[in-house]
Amino acid sequence: MKLRITEIFYSLQGESRTIGLPTVFIRLTGCPLRCQYCDTTYAFKGGELVELTAIMEKVASYNPHYVCVTGGEPLAQPNCIMLLKQLCDAGYQVSLETSGALDISATDTRVSRVVDLKTPDSQEVARNLYENINYLTKNDQIKFVICSRDDYDWAKTKLIQYDLSNRVDEIIFSPSFQQVKPQQLADWIIADNLPVRFQLQLHKILWNDEPGH
Ligand code: SF4
Repeated sequence: MKLRITEIFYSLQGESRTIGLPTVFIRLTGCPLRCQYCDTTYAFKGGELVELTAIMEKVASYNPHYVCVTGGEPLAQPNCIMLLKQLCDAGYQVSLETSGALDISATDTRVSRVVDLKTPDSQEVARNLYENINYLTKNDQIKFVICSRDDYDWAKTKLIQYDLSNRVDEIIFSPSFQQVKPQQLADWIIADNLPVRFQLQLHKILWNDEPGH
């Protein structure tokens, strides 16, 4: 069993509830979406087909506590389901970063699924698979990347419409890089007393978004 891999590396988690913790990242190649702010376009194509056993050996070589499967869109490769299961069986704390456009129902529930809800100004809002919300648990996280005030207002309506704060562990509002001023988003959240976590992407602050971090 093989997966197409763009990179495997050890760094600090740059977002989500495990932000700042040393984590192995497995970046799978390919994504069917084209968000206008995408910062991993280098993962759309190329990559290398790697045996699942070799992926597990590479991960083990770092002796990590945390492993994050990301992309691209990892679930675009069906073998991702088995990868997630084997990582959980090996005892790692596993997270999955997914666009929210593909079915998450077959993923191991030991995995903390970090599911995007794509906003209108991402230009991929039509790809949201809202059925996914039915499968979310208190081990999961939802992320909104906010590009504008309109996006912020849209995200607020989704919080209420789907009662998200009672479904998941974390709801993350993150400003789209250089599209919304971080302080502006922070002020909106405070003014509305929203039950969400404001978050800046740590890897952009520390490493200016270089691949491999
Ligand atoms: S889903 Fe993620 S990887 Fe795919 S285009 Fe959007 S931001 Fe980029």
